Amino acid sequence: MKITLWGSAGDVTGSAYLIETDQSAILVDCGSFQGSKTAEARNRKLPPVDINHLDAVVLTHAHLDHCGRLPLLAKENYKNPIYATPATIEISALILRDSLKVQNNDLEKLNRKLLRNGKPPVEPVFLKKDVEDVIGLMTPIAYQQDHTIAPGIKVRAAEAGHILGSSSLKLLITENGVTKSVVFSGDLGAKGMPIVRDPEPFLQTDMVFLESTYGDRDHKPMKETLEEFDSIIRDTVGRNGKILIPSFAVGRTQDLLYYLDSATRKGKLPGFPVYLDSPMAIEATKIYLRHPELFDEEMTEMSKDGQFQQSFNRIHATVSAEESRKINDIPGTCMIIAGSGMCNAGRILHHLRHNLWKPETSVIIVGYQAEGTLGRRLVDGVKWVNIFGERIAVKAQIHMLGGFSAHAGQSELLKWFNSLAPWRPKVVLTHGEEKARLPLAKIIRERYGLNPVLPGYGDSVEL
Ligand SMILES: [Zn+2]
Repeated sequence: MKITLWGSAGDVTGSAYLIETDQSAILVDCGSFQGSKTAEARNRKLPPVDINHLDAVVLTHAHLDHCGRLPLLAKENYKNPIYATPATIEISALILRDSLKVQNNDLEKLNRKLLRNGKPPVEPVFLKKDVEDVIGLMTPIAYQQDHTIAPGIKVRAAEAGHILGSSSLKLLITENGVTKSVVFSGDLGAKGMPIVRDPEPFLQTDMVFLESTYGDRDHKPMKETLEEFDSIIRDTVGRNGKILIPSFAVGRTQDLLYYLDSATRKGKLPGFPVYLDSPMAIEATKIYLRHPELFDEEMTEMSKDGQFQQSFNRIHATVSAEESRKINDIPGTCMIIAGSGMCNAGRILHHLRHNLWKPETSVIIVGYQAEGTLGRRLVDGVKWVNIFGERIAVKAQIHMLGGFSAHAGQSELLKWFNSLAPWRPKVVLTHGEEKARLPLAKIIRERYGLNPVLPGYGDSVEL
């Protein structure tokens, strides 16, 4: 069999693995590229596969960089199943419909400019029909059960602990009467993350594709992060300032709501209004609440008596733009959680414009901020920013809390790998920049005597 990487090879986006055997072909993930223009240009192309001979697609989880190119399959008339856990199906439907909206809005602006310039408009990469068709092909698979998905290929999903419904996958591939196994870690969460269960490692495999997003470091312990979080909030309440949190809609936002709820209940934080100013995050949170079977013990306990649901009901979920604008008129402390996570678009921009110049405001950055984004400039400590063409002074306090990451740190990655290591599998490191996957490769070489492969875009690995 041959496995070719059409994304997340030496970087962290565009996950897509094409697996070809003597009798079948399947894809594991089919995600979008994010970041540089050259990377994003690849979003117009599918991995080079004959659609008529593609038997199935399997998703590890619903983040856009793992499912974003699926509509291109429908556009090419792909009609076979796309397997995923039920929660992944619900969240990817939400994410894909949102990405269609984003595409169309961006395109409208771009094409207006092009037309004024006397140039032809740019065609959309995919249409509403493609998104709906592809959602229609999604087929649920249960955790910890073998499902036959193509001639000679079975798949089993295990909890990956990253976001709701996320999974690591084990493929059992039979060729010429011999069965071999290939494990894909997917994006792995850290042990002890809120809401979702801890990752469940597989115990045996011939080959493993291991993510390496944080292959070079560990996060600050969660306890320290939470103490810092609480103290920032208490200080801001003392100053009567607003607390702004730019956040990704799926995963991080639900973790934050969970922490707020548990800290308020324990009496660590005073009460203040919380605004969830993101229609997508509101929908994603509802999906989370519909899947108590995927909660860890603590969350199960918190949701048993309906308390978490009640706390969620107390949060002001602002759906319309009108409601969003009204938040600015509210006096005193409130917390505003809004997208985008890197402050390069979305409603958070309005709130930053209204509050960045006030010294009593706190901005809490909870996620990775890519080079060139407004969020990154704030973290870097600039004194002025430009928002909607207006020069805004940065007088607010900017806090960076790295401990909220949805990805396992180096030690957690190695712990997960530990249970596979005795089988001496072929190790392939993916989903990490070189500065992260090289140190991880070094440790795996030294500790286990295994020599990891570090493929680039379009490279194949054979087994
Ligand atoms: Zn992810």
